[in-house]
Amino acid sequence: MKAIYPGSFDPVTSGHLDIAERAASVFDEVVVAVAVNMEKRPLFSVEERVEMLREACRHLDNVQVDCFEGLTVDYAERLGAGVVIRSLRAVSDFESELQMALMNKRLNENVEMLFMMTRADYSFLSSSLVKELAELGASIKGLVPTCVEDRLLAKLKTKGWEAESK
Ligand code: ADP
Repeated sequence: MKAIYPGSFDPVTSGHLDIAERAASVFDEVVVAVAVNMEKRPLFSVEERVEMLREACRHLDNVQVDCFEGLTVDYAERLGAGVVIRSLRAVSDFESELQMALMNKRLNENVEMLFMMTRADYSFLSSSLVKELAELGASIKGLVPTCVEDRLLAKLKTKGWEAESK
């Protein structure tokens, strides 16, 4: 069975990677996919986010990294993936994820949304928090894959990026 794990991944964090690893042990194939979303103002380009994910997931034989535009369910169907994986960290994630899952079900009855619980160690972690921490000069060691650490610091130096709350 093939599954996709879509998200912004701006940038990929240790929490995302943990979900990708656990999903890879459940499904035959997992495609981690950067969703191109015009409404968000990402720090990293789609290409950069895909590159970092590829590096972070290199050790996972059955994981591929890709990007897509448009509806997640259409993308899943194009790939022949019957499952979309999302993850829940806190009750606050639940409401928006439920809404999205119900809408996706309405759009395509054949695609199943499956939710994995975050690991307790990463339950407080989000891409936006990591960006804010890095901007304020705090250590982000362990919160992101090592390949992301330097890239994030370099990026923040080159860009007058303002941390925004998501
Ligand atoms: P989106 O903008 O689509 O929510 P994200 O990149 O923020 O994309 O997250 C992608 C998925 O990964 C979401 O299902 C989100 O709940 C999950 N996720 C984000 N951070 C973590 C974390 N620390 N632990 C587990 N799952 C996470």
